[in-house]
Amino acid sequence: MTTRSATDLERGIREAVAHLRTWKRGERRAPHKPLLLLYALGRIQAGAPRLADFVEAESCLKSLLERFGPPSKAAHPLYPFWHLQGDGLWEVPRGKDAARRGGHAPLVSLARELHLEGGFPEPIERLLKRRPVLVSELGRAILEEHFPESLQDEIAEAAGLDLTAQGGAKRQARPPGFREEILRAYEYRCAICGFQALLDGAVIGVEAAHVRWHAYGGPAVVENGVALCVLHHKLFDLGVLGISPGRSVLVSTRASGEAEASARMIPFAGRRLRSPQEGKQAVGEAFAGWHRREVFRGPERAA
Ligand SMILES: [Zn+2]
Repeated sequence: MTTRSATDLERGIREAVAHLRTWKRGERRAPHKPLLLLYALGRIQAGAPRLADFVEAESCLKSLLERFGPPSKAAHPLYPFWHLQGDGLWEVPRGKDAARRGGHAPLVSLARELHLEGGFPEPIERLLKRRPVLVSELGRAILEEHFPESLQDEIAEAAGLDLTAQGGAKRQARPPGFREEILRAYEYRCAICGFQALLDGAVIGVEAAHVRWHAYGGPAVVENGVALCVLHHKLFDLGVLGISPGRSVLVSTRASGEAEASARMIPFAGRRLRSPQEGKQAVGEAFAGWHRREVFRGPERAA
C-alpha cells in the first residue's frame, strides 16, 4: 500500500466515524454503533483476531448498553453488529447467508447459532494496527461525539480501550465561560447536596454539568446547566439522578449501596434542587425532560 492510499484510507475512516452522527435520531440517544466501534478498537489494541464472534461481542455490548445506553429499551447488540456494515467500517463475512430477505439483519438466535463473526475490513484493520495513535484518536473522537466528558474515561475502560496514546489528539474544547457562569450562578455549591470547597481560594470538587448533553445539542446556557459536586455530577450523567418537572431531585430505585453510599443518594429524593442566584435562570424543563427520557434510569424513589 502506498503512503498516498493509506492517507486516503485514514481520511475515509475519520469521515465514516464522524458521519455516524447522522444516525442520531433527532434527540434520541443512539449509542449502539459508537459502543460497538469502541469495543472493536479495544480489540485492535489487545491484538485480538480481526473477526469477533457475535456471541462474545453480544455479552460485552449488552453490558455496555445497559450501563451507558439510554434507559428506554435499547436495540439489541445485533443491531449495530449488523448495521455498522452500512458505514463502510465493518463486515460480517458470512452474513449474507444468514440475512433475511431485503438485507434485514438475521435473527438473533441464528446469529448465535452460526457464531456469525464481524470486524473491521482487512485494509482498515491493517492500518489501525500500524497506527496506535489513530486508534486512540478515533476512540476519543467517538466518545466526545456521543458522551459527556464525565463518562468518557469510564466508558473507554469498560470497552477495554486505552486512550493514553493520544498523539496529536486534543480534547474537544468546552465552550469558554460556561463553567464559570454556571458555578457563579449556583454560588460554587452543588445544587443537590450543597458541597462547597476551596483550595487556596480556588473552587474544588464542584463542576458545571450539562443537563441536555453537549453531544446531543445541549446549549451552553445557564438554563441547561447545573453546578454539581464531582460525585453527583457523575451520578447525574449515569442516570442515577434526575430532575423532576417541578425541579426536585429524582433518585433511581435501581441504584443501591452500603450505608455511606446510600446516604449520598437516597435522602435527596424529592428534595428541591437548589435555585441559582436571583436573576439567573433555573434549569429549563425542556432540558430536564430530555434528561429524564434519555438518561435517567427510572423508576424514581418515592420522596
Ligand atoms: Zn453533591
